[in-house]
Amino acid sequence: MRWSQAFIPTLRDDPTDAEAISHRLLVRGGYLRQLMAGAYSLLPLMIRVRSKVATVIREEMDRIGGQEFLLPAVHPAEIWQKSGRWEIMGDEMFRLRDRKGADLALGMTHEEVFSTLALELRSYRDLPQFWYQIQTKFRDEPRPKGGVLRTREFTMKDSYSFDMESAGLDSSFDRHYVAYQRIFARLGLDAVPVEASSGAMGGSDSIEFMVRSNSGEDDVVYCGACGYAANMERATSRIDAIEDGAVHAEVEKFATPGVRTILDLSTFEGGAARESQIKSLVYMMEGELTLVLLRGDHALVEQKLQDGTGAIDLRPAHPEEIQAVLGANPGSLGAVGVKGVPIVADPALAGRYNMVTGANEDEFHLRGVDVERDIEVTTWMDVREITDGEACVTCGEPLEVFKAIEVGHIFKLGTKYAEAFGVSVLDEEGAAITVIMGSYGIGLERNIAAVVETHHDEKGIVWPVAIAPFVVVITVLRADVTEVLDAGERLYRDYQQAGIDTILDDRVERPGVKFADAELIGIPYRVTVGPRGLENGLVEIQDRARGTTEEIAIGDAISHVIQLIGQ
Ligand code: ATP
Ligand code: MG
Repeated sequence: MRWSQAFIPTLRDDPTDAEAISHRLLVRGGYLRQLMAGAYSLLPLMIRVRSKVATVIREEMDRIGGQEFLLPAVHPAEIWQKSGRWEIMGDEMFRLRDRKGADLALGMTHEEVFSTLALELRSYRDLPQFWYQIQTKFRDEPRPKGGVLRTREFTMKDSYSFDMESAGLDSSFDRHYVAYQRIFARLGLDAVPVEASSGAMGGSDSIEFMVRSNSGEDDVVYCGACGYAANMERATSRIDAIEDGAVHAEVEKFATPGVRTILDLSTFEGGAARESQIKSLVYMMEGELTLVLLRGDHALVEQKLQDGTGAIDLRPAHPEEIQAVLGANPGSLGAVGVKGVPIVADPALAGRYNMVTGANEDEFHLRGVDVERDIEVTTWMDVREITDGEACVTCGEPLEVFKAIEVGHIFKLGTKYAEAFGVSVLDEEGAAITVIMGSYGIGLERNIAAVVETHHDEKGIVWPVAIAPFVVVITVLRADVTEVLDAGERLYRDYQQAGIDTILDDRVERPGVKFADAELIGIPYRVTVGPRGLENGLVEIQDRARGTTEEIAIGDAISHVIQLIGQ
């Protein structure tokens, strides 16, 4: 490719709306343009990177026996109704109607469609099957964010395994696990496998692959000592017991004028430290008001509440709804004496006494509360957020909490979809056996953004060779001088012939502009051809990642780059 003919619209300044580094660099480097919130046009450089990523993924899926498909993005409502996810997917699903008035959905994932195809599996001899595709997914995300880190339309490699029994599923899952580790390693990503919540997918085990980055939206709880790693949505920890005193006091109401928060009450005369308060949150779950209790200094993880109760529709209750049932406003809420309202309590409150909580009367609180004596807890459920430094559940060493980007997710689905669609095969005795499924996803554009998040410097992107849009840029310093341009052209042909993806920067531009562009878009090797070097038969070769520059004889220019790539 000749740069003078290429569409590489680099920008000098960061886009104003971009926070994530990958968002800034991919827009500035001419890889992306936003069409609307959560929808990006992928420009030619991005397509080059994406097709290399797709090749890596295909090679690794094929290595474990995957077979490639391509399924429609537009689906009939019926298949989603059959699995029950027409409702479950809620507003995240784009829906439309065709000219005949039939309800359709844009595919967010393809368990349903692949299940309809699996109806043609006949015998145990057909299993296992690994089916995959690289295809566009549509999700009306509530908060598209970070450029292509979270969009409403993106490319996913999704695959599905079909097995006879759970041991088969375990082995299919393990093979995907290994394939995913190989994929991430080849993309240059240090992806940590973590225990995850299965969310709307259903099923038992799931593992997410997480790349540490401040642009990530997930929190990973990690133990450097034993390797325990879990998404905050699933993580647990060991916390120290709290001494509540020798005397079990009786419940006593006291006035707390002006006190609205846990913090207010912790500094209020006669109040209590945060860890001796009960935090009372009120949620509307499937249309039913529910009280959720935590230790005063603990925070709620909504996904835990959702996973633990199975509630699909869940949100904090509005003040009017709370007032109607509990008779007080947030700031004075509590669970003592509450009847007829489900109460979910976090185990960190078990056995605690002499606690302080709202009295369900504005401007009043209760002290001397013994959680198990005074509150009718319906369900004990771990719903607490883990904080940095708490002790690891497995080894007791301090945990670390860090922000991460979820780059891949693998699920053991079990028989949920196979049952809904009636997918079965005949076993050796001729009996029909429901197949067991797994599903496995990697987002291509999000992975590319994650690479940029972890491979850049102040000048721009620093692509790993495996997925760089071009591996070499030949920067011709005086493209207006025929001999210099010719020398550049000859080198360009030689690199291409050696199978190295190369772009010839033949623009008549100042060297500074060309160097800055090459660094911004992140080409791993720059070969600079200029009049002075040519007089001595030399070119300059810069290694973007190592930051080294060497003068090399023109005749060695190809072998030198090959050697650098090999190092
Ligand atoms: P998240 O929790 O980030 O919303 P998810 O659990 O919904 O992700 P999956 O349904 O497991 O994601 O999808 C598999 C993969 O697809 C993810 O690991 C990620 O790489 C990618 N992905 C998911 N949602 C998006 C999105 N909105 N934009 C870009 N990539 C996405
Ligand atoms: Mg999601």
